[in-house]
Amino acid sequence: MSPPRVRHEGIKKTVIVNFADLCQSMNRRPEHVMRFLLLVLGTTGSLDSYKKLEVNGRFVPKNLEWIMKEYADNFVICKCCNSKNTSLLKDSGAVFIRCKRCKWDSYL
Ligand SMILES: [Zn+2]
Repeated sequence: MSPPRVRHEGIKKTVIVNFADLCQSMNRRPEHVMRFLLLVLGTTGSLDSYKKLEVNGRFVPKNLEWIMKEYADNFVICKCCNSKNTSLLKDSGAVFIRCKRCKWDSYL
């Protein structure tokens, strides 16, 4: 995964310019990734019409990169074979990662 490209707007806003690309490379919905990221940062933010993520507060790229890795560890990478080629699925309330390579289901 490529690192987040970050732009600071003033002292109170951090924008992840390539957020849509990062989400697409993980095959995850930007809204889901955003919820996790904002929860970990303990702040608020929003997606603009180009799916750039605007985060309230000033954060350094290294920090954001680490959180994206955490997201991938939790919601993308297969617990069985470490493949990133997975889907996040929901079945009667249970959320799990289904691996397209080894077919393993990792329940969260
Ligand atoms: Zn697997």
